Amino acid sequence: MERISHWIGGKVVLGESGRTGPVFNPATGERTHEVDFATTEEMESAVATAAEAFPAWRATSLSKRADIFFRIRELLEARKPELARIVTSQHGKVLSDAAGEIQRGIENVEFACGIPNLLKGGYSEQVATGVDTYSIRQPLGVVAGITPFNFPAMVPMWMFANAIACGNTFILKPSEKDPGASMFVAEVLQEAGLPDGVFNVVHGDKVAVDAILESPDIAAVSFVGSTPIARYIYETGTRNGKRVQALGGAKNHMIVLPDADLDMAADAAVSAGYGSAGERCMAVSMVVAVGGIGDELVAKIAERLPKIVVGDGTEPTSEMGPLVTREHRDKVAGYLESGTAQGATVVRDGREDPVYAREGFFLGVSLIDHVTTDMDCYRDEIFGPVLGVTRVDTYAEALGLVNDNPYGNGVALYTRDGGAARQFQFEVNVGMVGVNVPIPVPVAYYSFGGWKASLFGDNHMYGPEGITFYTRGKVVTSRWPDPSTSSVDLGFPRTR
Ligand code: NAD
Repeated sequence: MERISHWIGGKVVLGESGRTGPVFNPATGERTHEVDFATTEEMESAVATAAEAFPAWRATSLSKRADIFFRIRELLEARKPELARIVTSQHGKVLSDAAGEIQRGIENVEFACGIPNLLKGGYSEQVATGVDTYSIRQPLGVVAGITPFNFPAMVPMWMFANAIACGNTFILKPSEKDPGASMFVAEVLQEAGLPDGVFNVVHGDKVAVDAILESPDIAAVSFVGSTPIARYIYETGTRNGKRVQALGGAKNHMIVLPDADLDMAADAAVSAGYGSAGERCMAVSMVVAVGGIGDELVAKIAERLPKIVVGDGTEPTSEMGPLVTREHRDKVAGYLESGTAQGATVVRDGREDPVYAREGFFLGVSLIDHVTTDMDCYRDEIFGPVLGVTRVDTYAEALGLVNDNPYGNGVALYTRDGGAARQFQFEVNVGMVGVNVPIPVPVAYYSFGGWKASLFGDNHMYGPEGITFYTRGKVVTSRWPDPSTSSVDLGFPRTR
């Protein structure tokens, strides 16, 4: 069995804790790798390496940093199929979806290529006689990212691209369920010319995470994962004086108004509900049918389901792969049980799909109708291919459902009424809103983040808020005597 070890100071460092975790191929159920789990001391050693790399990296000119990011972009683009295969083999999502995740990640690298422009400050001349004031943004030092299993390539890129471009050095603690992508990316960054020690990967579980949260030499922590852990990371990290942004779980509603094109809405619900087997924080998990369209909408969704090809993500015909682990698959299937017991109608039960009997961690697409807010399948983030439908009479009731929900990550509204859509975006308490767009993940030059229990902290992730998060402002006020120090130099001014 292959072993996955840490990447510290530009090379693979074997873990010495004696503790490891299993990595599976979810399509076959086979245990393919063991990943090392770091001790506190191993994390401290990685932090020391990153701290050592920081002074030279922060002093590297913006043009040189941009050069490196352009090369990272080219290499990731060229090696996308290899990286996609790693993602599929450990996460399970189909290859086209893995390539899509990598593409959205690369967009963050592209954004970071503009770092010379992004770090521009302000300048006010003559704030007093002979006095000027200007503002600059400087990196924080060593920063860390802790990432979830469901986007093993993209979510690390949300973090490290801006963090490193701003001049910080970085420790990544990826999900222990699919750690292979981060090792591939580490090699790409080195090949692109990123100095050793600027990007490090330390694998592990709670021990490694706690070592990050306790380390006095880590200035900031970015986290993406489930809400209970996000809350823990935020509370512990900030108590230890760190800057923290911690993105949590979600329960995303898709509201369908009676005037919507129901075929378009059904296509969107199926795409956003079952893509990546529902293991997306922006997946649609509840469809809210407004004003008597419930039966027709459920029928349209149901008629699309038998056509979805569930299978091994490496097979070109597969549209949906397995879930990440057997335990998670069984937990998701449990909502079909509890939904029935609590009075919902299971329209399609994914356990009856022949894929369920395979060795891999498969569950067929599942649809539950007549879901109400007191049921477990409504209250919990299921994070699997189980789509729920609830029915309400009015727009106001639909809005109330979303605004009363503890999560506030994403929401979508389907309508042909521009006025209703505008009113909705005005009054809905959710961070990312789609109008006839089922998965409204912002492009890399905006920022990503939910409200309420979907985000703890003040800054959303990536984009302009990412730059703010990974830098501190400084304002300089200066007065100079008349200079008499100039000399002649006919060379063209150089930046590197
Ligand atoms: P998770 O919270 O179990 O794990 C996330 C990270 O935290 C992993 O690196 C893991 O090793 C670590 N971790 C787990 N338990 C820990 C503990 N007790 N103490 C310290 N660290 C711990 O999440 P997951 O299952 O990997 O990912 C799925 C979750 O992530 C879902 O809830 C999903 O909604 C959420 N998610 C949110 C977003 C977003 O942008 N809001 C994006 C992707 C995923």
